[in-house]
Amino acid sequence: MPVKIFLNEDEIPREWYNIAADMPTPMQPPLHPGTHQPVGPEDLAPVFPMNLIEQEVSTERWIKIPDQVLDKLLLWRPTPLYRAVNLEKFLNCPVKIYYKNEGVSPAGSHKPNTAIPQAYYNKVFGVKRIATETGAGQWGSALSFACSQFGLEAKVYMVRISYEQKPYRRLMMNTWGATCVPSPSTETEAGRKVLALDPNSPGSLGIAISEAVEDAVTSEAQGRPLTRYALGSVLNHVLLHQTIIGLEAQKQLAQVGDYPDIVIGCAGGGSNFAGISFPFVRDKIAGKQVQIIAVEPMSCPTMTRGPFLYDFGDTMQMTPLLPMHTLGHAFIPAPVHAGGLRYHGMAPLVSQLILDGLVEPRAVYQLDTFKAGVTWARTEGFISAPETNHALAAVFQEAKKAKEEGKEKVILVNWSGHGLVDLAAYDAFFQGKLVDYEMPQDEIELALKALEGFPKPNF
Ligand SMILES: *Cc1c(COP(=O)(O)O)cnc(C)c1O
Repeated sequence: MPVKIFLNEDEIPREWYNIAADMPTPMQPPLHPGTHQPVGPEDLAPVFPMNLIEQEVSTERWIKIPDQVLDKLLLWRPTPLYRAVNLEKFLNCPVKIYYKNEGVSPAGSHKPNTAIPQAYYNKVFGVKRIATETGAGQWGSALSFACSQFGLEAKVYMVRISYEQKPYRRLMMNTWGATCVPSPSTETEAGRKVLALDPNSPGSLGIAISEAVEDAVTSEAQGRPLTRYALGSVLNHVLLHQTIIGLEAQKQLAQVGDYPDIVIGCAGGGSNFAGISFPFVRDKIAGKQVQIIAVEPMSCPTMTRGPFLYDFGDTMQMTPLLPMHTLGHAFIPAPVHAGGLRYHGMAPLVSQLILDGLVEPRAVYQLDTFKAGVTWARTEGFISAPETNHALAAVFQEAKKAKEEGKEKVILVNWSGHGLVDLAAYDAFFQGKLVDYEMPQDEIELALKALEGFPKPNF
């Protein structure tokens, strides 16, 4: 029984899988916040290049991966599928555990899977410069890497508190040639407004998104090179690009004659979860028995406690209204260490699949995630990102359940990234500084008050 299951380079998937073609309930359209009418491709044109907007609204089942994108993905793909043999021995439960190692990419997570195609489509559209936001720096570093591969300028607005406390990913961005500024910055109207109210603002992802979007839409008027905006999760085209993970995993499992009973991924905006799971959701829609679990923090329980509503994607209310599970755009999650999972919303595609009962959401406590991550490191060796540890905590829960039920199970989990730049979080855990935090119901209700009067999606 192999520990690592590889694909040859020529076995890399040539097409992405678009779940919009197979969903039992189609996704409801994003709405213009002023008119409450569905937004058309033209409305998005100042923000994204048209070739990516076409992917965003496409219902074609398979979308060809351009050769120039495949050439770049081959730098680290296909990624190995591991059998977690050491962890299995340690757990002594009737489970086989497979994990897809997305930590082998240059930026150390799954995010380059979409950063590369996004940079490519911008490049062929004639865009010279990409503006984006980043929290802890995972997306900013992935996009900086991708821009360097295609000779594009990258401008990253990084949440100030992270910019100051977490220098390593900022330095990765600089190494790849990107410009990274702390947000709120003095370079945009949005940033200046926030600073006027609070000169010491620590920033937030919502503010940084507003700055990056403003940078993109005002670039021509302000004489900057043609700039568009890029987002690292949530949107349909981002989830589409990530499906290469699950498509590879299907081929790899077929090599060893296995098929998962359970597929698990952590979910911040939903992209790595969608990436591993959507090809299996396709099978499930076609009648296959498979349990599909998306894992989030108790402190930011978007899927498990946030209602399905139309809401803004950002704090400053600049995006279209998206139909999704949300805690409200004004919601500010507790500062847990899985920065990538601190988002008030969830990808509309993932949200709809939850409503349709195809995806099962689950929330886990922070301390359990670090316990899982430490046990993982002491068995499998790899040190996981704090976000990834959420998926691992659910793996442990499912292994235990299989033992209690006396059932043999095959578990597939997406190991979304390594934690080598996140060791301060492990330090805080070892020093006993981390706590479990559950969202009080009244805080959720208060944050959702901001959505009164918004249009409601259908059930
Ligand atoms: C950003 C990130 C996540 C969360 O983002 P999704 O879009 O939900 O995948 C999870 N794991 C890692 C390692 C990340 O960098």
